[in-house]
Amino acid sequence: AVKETGKADFRFYEEGMLEQARERLALTVELREALQAGELTVEYQPKRNLRDGTLAGVEALARWPHPVRGDVPPSVFVAIAERSGLIHALGEYVLRSVLGQVRAWDAAGTVVEYVAINLSMHELTRPAFVDTLHRAVRSFGVDPTRIRFELTESSAMRQPEETLRQLVKLRSHGFDLLIDDFGAGYWNLSHLRELPVGTIKIDQSFVRGSSSNLADREITEAIVGLAKKLNMRTIAEGVETEAQAEWLRDMGCDIGQGFFFARPMSADAFSRYVDPTMAYAG
Ligand code: C2E
Ligand code: MG
Ligand code: MG
Ligand code: MG
Repeated sequence: AVKETGKADFRFYEEGMLEQARERLALTVELREALQAGELTVEYQPKRNLRDGTLAGVEALARWPHPVRGDVPPSVFVAIAERSGLIHALGEYVLRSVLGQVRAWDAAGTVVEYVAINLSMHELTRPAFVDTLHRAVRSFGVDPTRIRFELTESSAMRQPEETLRQLVKLRSHGFDLLIDDFGAGYWNLSHLRELPVGTIKIDQSFVRGSSSNLADREITEAIVGLAKKLNMRTIAEGVETEAQAEWLRDMGCDIGQGFFFARPMSADAFSRYVDPTMAYAG
């Protein structure tokens, strides 16, 4: 629901440039305050193995329930964070929430194999990023294999060699990486060869288009076929219907994620979702 309501509320993006700049500045200030006050939350969306329907893991998605503006969509506040440098604080905030949640789920017996966190390529520009991350994981006592990173690109990679070094280091610490939104945006085929990544997440626009558009179906099949040849796994995002899930499974896609399985939900709702017997435990 965040997405649908969010877009309409943000009409100011179409108003004058000065107004835009003013709004961006206001949102930047408010985002910094919200991070300090701990007002952002994290929702979790299940990923399911398409072959047997079992839970593979979850994706963590940041939420900003703004007291005055309503829910600000991630498409807006992640972009604001990237432009202002707040992306480092946002990333650390989400990481700490997730690590705390993994501990809480483990203590409660809620089985979650891994949490995938979205990682903006901007976050890798901070040289200390990987060490800070490694320390955080150790201090929470969470095994690095429980955390994966979905690499999202909002622009072409600016320092490819430095980025690659950081990603190799991330891998060597035991964090799995996957390419998010593949087929849309700036990812290209040479990234598949160069980046230490074992999984491709097919952009939801192809999955959505697959029901009505032959080209989108063919592109999705081509990505799955390519991934297999490269020994990579595939995740389809934006799976909204049973027909899409079946078609993806039949063509050999490994994992599905989308409203057909479940919407992103709070950590508590997720505990009930995996173990309905806990629903009334208080
Ligand atoms: P993403 O990583 O590609 O996440 C998938 C988006 O699709 C999420 O939107 C999710 O709620 C939505 N979605 C999932 N299943 C379906 C479906 O079946 N149908 C439709 N129509 N949508 C579905 P959301 O939560 O608005 O996040 C948007 C983007 O914001 C994310 O795209 C990600 O790039 C970024 N983002 C979210 N949280 C974080 C974060 O903690 N850090 C960073 N750096 N980026 C984040
Ligand atoms: Mg993602
Ligand atoms: Mg995605
Ligand atoms: Mg996306």
